[in-house]
Amino acid sequence: MSLRPLDRLRKTIGFRLTLWYSAIFILSALAMVILAYFFLASSLRQKDHEMILSRLQEYQAQYRTGGIRAIRQELASEKYAGKPNYFFVRLASPANGTLFLNIPDQWADFDLKPLESGAIQEKAWIHLRAKDDENVLEITTAKLPDGSSLQVGKTTENREDLLETFRGVFASVTLIVIVLGVIGGQFLAVRALRPIRQLILTVRAIADTGKIAARMPVGQTRDELDELARLFNQMLEKIDALITGMKETLDNVAHDLRTPMTRLRGVAEMALQGEGPMETYREALADCLEESERVLRMMNTLMDISEAETGTMQLTLEPVNLPDLMDKVIDLYRYVAEEKHITLKTAYPRELHLAVDRDRLSQALGNLLDNALKYSPPGGNVELEASERPGQVIILVRDSGPGISPEDLPKIWDRLYRGDKSRSQRGMGLGLSLVKAIIGAHQGYVEASSLPDAGSVFAVYLPKQLQ
Ligand code: ADP
Repeated sequence: MSLRPLDRLRKTIGFRLTLWYSAIFILSALAMVILAYFFLASSLRQKDHEMILSRLQEYQAQYRTGGIRAIRQELASEKYAGKPNYFFVRLASPANGTLFLNIPDQWADFDLKPLESGAIQEKAWIHLRAKDDENVLEITTAKLPDGSSLQVGKTTENREDLLETFRGVFASVTLIVIVLGVIGGQFLAVRALRPIRQLILTVRAIADTGKIAARMPVGQTRDELDELARLFNQMLEKIDALITGMKETLDNVAHDLRTPMTRLRGVAEMALQGEGPMETYREALADCLEESERVLRMMNTLMDISEAETGTMQLTLEPVNLPDLMDKVIDLYRYVAEEKHITLKTAYPRELHLAVDRDRLSQALGNLLDNALKYSPPGGNVELEASERPGQVIILVRDSGPGISPEDLPKIWDRLYRGDKSRSQRGMGLGLSLVKAIIGAHQGYVEASSLPDAGSVFAVYLPKQLQ
């Protein structure tokens, strides 16, 4: 049981990051310290060897001029001058017998027997270990012209003392490095994970309250985590807008359903009250049918829109000559235009082929034409145009209606949105949403441009070939 919090700690990213940061920092610092120590040790050894070799050359020169006596004199004068007498000197006969030996008193515990027993090799380094401590006597040899050998050496005592001091310093440095590594690792992990913790807090706040109002604070560093925070906030913004849109749609649907349903109930209630002639019942039933058809139409259109928007609308694509399709749509509305004395003009070539869903495109163009006729005043003009660009077909529907205000323009594509001035006209506020969804399902797009009192233009852009 007591291990659980420790286990949890071990699984946290913060702990692992701290561990990684600290390990990398400590290991690289240690590698540097060890390297520095080895460089130091090897350069000290090299310096010692150079000293021994130069002393060997000096004694060799003296031997050449004055024999063993000259070396002896030199050593004596060195002692007399107070120079530290710390060089081992041995002169060996060709048979490796000791002819002369100068060994400082403090090195008396070196066993010199191996020197006499082995064969003499010029320039090789001989290492003699002291009997009771770690000191080593390093000796090298030079052959003399008369066949004898001269050996000069020195102990590693001074070097070891110096290295000992450095080992102490390096140990303290290592300790400091470990402490710094752990503290630095912790600090970096905390800093690096701060945005993640903010993200957790934000998500938790949303999960707890069910409201998407919470946002992540965005820093100024513009690094990846800042980018994540910004994208996360953008995503929340979009979800918020979608939920608000859905709520509004639901409210609007409920509101728009209430009117026909209340009327339906009213008609049915009236018919049920008292005995009336058969004709009254017929009329009531016809009214009920009309209202329920209206509700059904609204439901179907709503479902069509969401199918088209979610990409589940089944399109039956076939090669179509657009002018023929447009002619048929116009035929359906010719009567309405004549009734309102609206002049219907067309401007399109006789041949313009593309692959579309014939029924769906007719439905979309019908809605645009219906709106143009509906919102144009009697005696106005409505024009339908179609033209071709490379890879694209453009259909325009112009009217001479009241136009759409700049504030309304972005909203007209929303489901169930109806302009204030349009409420006197029949409609459910779903026509343009369906147009947009159908054209979107064909990988095209629609635009509306308008100036108040100057009519509106709706432009449909369709690709000639669907991807
Ligand atoms: P409905 O026409 O049923 O109200 P739509 O979705 O077809 O719904 O249109 C949404 C709104 O856009 C309309 O209520 C109207 O305010 C505006 N609108 C659409 N077409 C036109 C047009 N040709 N001229 C002026 N306003 C228009």
